[in-house]
Amino acid sequence: MTTHFEEKMNQESESDSPEKSACGLPSEASLDGKGDFGLSEEEWKQRLTPEQFRVLRQQGTEPPFNNEFWNSKADGDYSCAGCGQKLFSSAQKFDSGTGWPSFSTPIEQNNVGEERDESHGMVRIEVHCSNCGGHLGHVFPDGPKPTGLRYCINSASLVQNPQG
Ligand code: FE
Repeated sequence: MTTHFEEKMNQESESDSPEKSACGLPSEASLDGKGDFGLSEEEWKQRLTPEQFRVLRQQGTEPPFNNEFWNSKADGDYSCAGCGQKLFSSAQKFDSGTGWPSFSTPIEQNNVGEERDESHGMVRIEVHCSNCGGHLGHVFPDGPKPTGLRYCINSASLVQNPQG
């Protein structure tokens, strides 16, 4: 039997941050023709690890708190694991509490493309590398100021280039 208090708590926990769990669902955005890099599926498989291929080329999602960069505070830029294009900087990385690396802005706006993703009964904005079309994650409107954005990114789509 559920009390009114428990009902309220459940409602609040669901409405608190609906987008934060939406990070964990795979994307089904249409990325056909995005960043045509000229590689066949077979060539991408040879170039990437199975996990990188699953995320970048099949729009998969990795588990929260169990991926390479979610808790990393190391300085440096993050580049696309598919093609090397610079995507994010540690300077804009923040702790979102979601278990995925989160950034308030890309390093260059043009380096990250956006596509509407209506899968799983919700509307999300999928983000991908503008150079090779590799899937990165999603962007949500609940990030810190001044952008107010939270780029929720899969670690497998990134490689970090240390500064220095
Ligand atoms: Fe790329």
